[in-house]
Amino acid sequence: MAAIIDGKEIAGVMRRELAEKVSEMKAKGVTPGLAVILVGDDPASASYVKSKEKSCEEMGMYSRDIRLSADTEEKELLGLIEELNKDEKIDGILVQLPLPSHMDEEKVILAIHPDKDVDGFHPLNVGKMLLEQETFLPCTPHGILKLLEYSKIPVKGKKVVVIGRSNIVGKPLSSLFIQKKAWGNATVTVCHTATQDLKKECLEADILVAAAGRPEMITGDMIKEGAVVIDVGVNRVEDSSRKRGYRLTGDVNFQQAEAKASHITPVPGGVGPMTITMLLFNTVESAQRRLEKRING
Ligand code: NAP
Repeated sequence: MAAIIDGKEIAGVMRRELAEKVSEMKAKGVTPGLAVILVGDDPASASYVKSKEKSCEEMGMYSRDIRLSADTEEKELLGLIEELNKDEKIDGILVQLPLPSHMDEEKVILAIHPDKDVDGFHPLNVGKMLLEQETFLPCTPHGILKLLEYSKIPVKGKKVVVIGRSNIVGKPLSSLFIQKKAWGNATVTVCHTATQDLKKECLEADILVAAAGRPEMITGDMIKEGAVVIDVGVNRVEDSSRKRGYRLTGDVNFQQAEAKASHITPVPGGVGPMTITMLLFNTVESAQRRLEKRING
């Protein structure tokens, strides 16, 4: 039976460390500040944004919560980002994606100053990450690396299979895993919808990361005995027995995978809490740079 990689617990440890850092920074006159912009009223996005704001407050950080209606013009959003770019109290700007279809996501991401891009989505920061230069690492991949680090799971020399090649999870994560760094040095395979034999690829994995957004697509027969399984997927599946009418499930069939894997992340309570924690981490890093600038002039 697999050991559970408890994302809530690991996130809790990291948040306590971060809260200490925040209080030291506040004593020196700098309060890390995060602005979160939500356009429209998509319930899943609204719930993510709410937990980001709540987490910020729990850490003693400054949080500015901006809600715009779904029919807001793109230029209004760009103007707001420009103001936040100049705002001294704000160290990080997060625009919750996806945006309404009349807005150009690339343009909006590009408008965020790279020094405040705590999501790590700006092309400049993506480039820096690829070149192994200091930058904000994207939150979900970074959170996964931290889960492995805190669980003392070695990555060096392992075969890692990542399912999914999105800009926010699969692509950055696979590039981090190949880096010659403490968190990487793995041999990485990236799978997607054109992969010919997904099961065969998965069975090669010492560390299997599922980030496809397909409920329970990874079954027990796709997992090598003793593999580490990281389930990134968050899928809403209809469930009339629940008050809210749905339940959350990952991309992995947990029961089957638990019997084969050595370690596994649950959904919820695995990768999710780490994503928000790394957002707080990046915001504190950004504030730390502001503090250093103030001290060094
Ligand atoms: P995405 O942009 O929809 O990308 C999904 C990727 O999976 C694509 O590259 C797609 O391949 C691939 N894929 C889909 N079905 C597949 C299949 N049957 N076989 C092989 N590959 C397949 O999704 P995302 O934004 O990366 O998110 C993935 C999942 O993670 C979602 O459930 C999302 O909600 C969740 N998520 C969770 C967190 C968290 O904090 N827990 C954070 C981010 C995302 P193609 O490129 O060929 O289409």
